[in-house]
Amino acid sequence: MNKKRILLFCAHPDDAELCAGGTIKKFVSKGYKVKVVIMTNGGVGNNDMNVSKTVDIRNIEMQDVASFLNYEVKNLNINDGEVLPTLEYRKLVIDEIRKFKPDIIMTHRSNDYHPDHRYTSILVQDSLVLICTGNYCPTYSPLNYTPITLFFWDRFTKPNSFNADIVYDITNEFEDKVEALSKHKSQYKSIEECRNVLIDINNELKQNIESSYKYIEAFEICEYAKKDELIAFLKSKSKIFG
Ligand SMILES: [Zn+2]
Repeated sequence: MNKKRILLFCAHPDDAELCAGGTIKKFVSKGYKVKVVIMTNGGVGNNDMNVSKTVDIRNIEMQDVASFLNYEVKNLNINDGEVLPTLEYRKLVIDEIRKFKPDIIMTHRSNDYHPDHRYTSILVQDSLVLICTGNYCPTYSPLNYTPITLFFWDRFTKPNSFNADIVYDITNEFEDKVEALSKHKSQYKSIEECRNVLIDINNELKQNIESSYKYIEAFEICEYAKKDELIAFLKSKSKIFG
């Protein structure tokens, strides 16, 4: 199947743009279906506003960005800062995966220090192990395959540094990534601030990853999938990310 289905699990409303905005733009223009599941309501992201006002504004911003980059978005509305690897949240994640039937999942690494990032990753990893087990959370049919999961880049090194298994050239998409991030208006003062934030991230990435591309995003492949599924993904990787 050429038209891939990509499901991102992000802890906060702007994580998808920060970690994979250029990749999303490229995937959508290739005809892939992209959905972003945001775990939290982003309510503590602005010190100048109370939580409920911030949540309302961030909901509007999430929809704005999703329309701009042309992806589907869903917010699981967990309180910001309160993601935990509970059975209740695991079931939410499993339902989302089974409903969407992704070829590829993208999420944070579990040695990210932000607890929402860390536990979003743990929830996805715990779900992967049970996604094909039909009697577990039987609301939606089990998958008969394990999606390939890719982790976003982060700078942390303990217990393991990020491994750049996939390096994607997003030079042509960089300005759209900047504009997408700037639509999170309650978090960033201007488009210049967004550009600077993303240039800083890109510089840090390129200090660690050798690449001739001007702007990149990078992903680490999760080892959890059936062996033949991982081999098939590795074989088709350059086509999927072409
Ligand atoms: Zn975040």
